[in-house]
Amino acid sequence: AKAAGRNTQRFFDPAMQAALLARASLEADLRQGLAGNELFVHYQPVVDARGRVQGAEALARWRHPVRGFISPAEFIPLAEQTGLILPLGRHILQVACAQLVRWARDPQAAHLSLAVNVSARQFRQPGFVAEVLQTLQASGANPRRLKIELTESMLLGDLECTIERMGQLKRHGVGFALDDFGTGYSSLSYLKRLPLDQVKIDQSFVRDVLTDPNDAAIVRTILALAQSLDLAVVAEGVETTGQLGFLRLHGCEQFQGYLFGRPGSAEDMDVLLHA
Ligand code: C2E
Ligand code: CA
Ligand code: CA
Ligand code: CA
Repeated sequence: AKAAGRNTQRFFDPAMQAALLARASLEADLRQGLAGNELFVHYQPVVDARGRVQGAEALARWRHPVRGFISPAEFIPLAEQTGLILPLGRHILQVACAQLVRWARDPQAAHLSLAVNVSARQFRQPGFVAEVLQTLQASGANPRRLKIELTESMLLGDLECTIERMGQLKRHGVGFALDDFGTGYSSLSYLKRLPLDQVKIDQSFVRDVLTDPNDAAIVRTILALAQSLDLAVVAEGVETTGQLGFLRLHGCEQFQGYLFGRPGSAEDMDVLLHA
C-alpha cells in the first residue's frame, strides 16, 4: 500500500506531469511538422587548410509554426526516442541527395561531398542499406560524394553487423566518418576494425585547445592516432584563427566552424562557392 501510495504521488506530481505533457505535445508537433514540410536542411561548409570548400555537413532544422526554430539538440533526441528519426532521417537523406545532384551540375560545386548524420537507431533498422542505395539511385546522386556520420554509440550494439552494413555501402562508394570523436565509447581496437574514412574531432575539445592543456593533449593524440590509422580528420567548432593554427600545426587538414561559415541555406552555400 505504501509503494502504491508513492507511485500515485509520483504520477500526480504536477511538474512531472507538465513535462510529460510538453513532451507529448512536442512529439505530436514533430509528427505534424514532418508531414507539413516544417523540417529542412542547412549546410555548413567543410574547408581544407587553404580555406577552400571541400564539402558540407547537412544539419536538420525545424521551424515550428508557433515556437519558431527548435534546436536539433532538442528534437533529434525526441525523434530518436519516438522512432520519428526514421521518417526524419529518410527525409534528410532525400534532401541531401537532391542537393548533391544540384551541385554536380555546377562546375564550382561538382567536387563537394555532403555528410549526413545518421542515428544509431536509423542505421540499425533492417532496411537502412537498401534505403540509402535506393535514394542515391532514384536521385542520381554520386555515392562517392555522400558521407555518413555515425557516432560512437554505434559501437554499443552488434559490431559485426555494423561493419557488415558499412562495408555494403562502402562497396558503392559511400564514405563514413566517426562523429564527436573522443566523447563516447571508442576503444582503439574498435576504431581499427571499423571501415572508416574519417573522424571528426568534437568541438568540446577544440573550444579550449589553446588554454586547456588536457584538451590540447587530446587533440594532438587524436590527430596522431588518425594519422597512424590512415584516417582523415575534420576538426569541428573552429571559431578562431588561433584554434586553426594549433590544429594545422598538429596535422589537421580539414576544418568546420563559424570561422569559415555557419550552417546556412543552399543559397548561402552558392554565394560562398561563387565568391
Ligand atoms: P553535430 O553533428 O556534432 O553537428 C555540429 C554542430 O555544431 C551543429 O549544431 C553546428 O551548428 C554546430 N557548430 C558548427 N560550427 C560551430 C562553431 O564554430 N561553434 C559552435 N559553438 N558550434 C558550431 P546543430 O546544427 O545544432 O546540431 C546539433 C546536433 O544535432 C548535431 O551535432 C547532430 O548530432 C544532431 N543532428 C543535426 N542534424 C541531424 C540529422 O539530420 N540527423 C541526426 N541523426 N542528427 C542530427
Ligand atoms: Ca555531425
Ligand atoms: Ca560532431
Ligand atoms: Ca555534437
